[in-house]
Amino acid sequence: MKVKDKEFAVSIPEREILSQVARVAAEINRDYAGQEPVFLVVLNGSFIFAADLLREVTLPCEIAFVKMASYQGTSSTGTVREIMGLNVDVTNRPVIIVEDIVDTGFTMAHMLELLKQHHPQSVNICSLLVKPGKLQVDLDIRYRCLEIPNDFIVGYGLDYDQQGRNTRDIYTVVEK
Ligand code: 5GP
Ligand code: MG
Repeated sequence: MKVKDKEFAVSIPEREILSQVARVAAEINRDYAGQEPVFLVVLNGSFIFAADLLREVTLPCEIAFVKMASYQGTSSTGTVREIMGLNVDVTNRPVIIVEDIVDTGFTMAHMLELLKQHHPQSVNICSLLVKPGKLQVDLDIRYRCLEIPNDFIVGYGLDYDQQGRNTRDIYTVVEK
């Protein structure tokens, strides 16, 4: 498959993705039995994953969609992030973040810090993909569907320059 200037090849077929998504949903159903979690779906990349995952979740739950916005702040550290669209009150509630991919882990680490200011009862991360070889922060990713090598991937919601999200399989870039 070609997306813009790059060539991609299937690396994870749809059936494997869906079976791992179902496995993780079953883990969540088991671990959160008797609770009513709030799922915070991080847009844009997680939209297909969230649709498949949440249709396997049988718990009473609330689903909200958020975005991480980055901008150049005045602090010496440079980039500051905020959670856009957090229009659900998470105070004293169990929260599950639904993320497409954890790479360095910086995005999730920031999000956890910002979420803590809203005093949730608990927070766990549920990521479709994790690149363990790229992780740079100490992050507890409780729920993970697939672990992948460091290469760049697209499809099943994830983009290359805003394209390539609408595929059933996951593709890895072919280096020439
Ligand atoms: P982190 O803060 O963990 O380094 O970055 C996570 C974000 O980087 C993801 O939410 C995603 O937007 C982007 N990202 C990291 N690796 C990939 C990849 O292989 N493919 C795509 N499409 N996005 C990626
Ligand atoms: Mg993401």
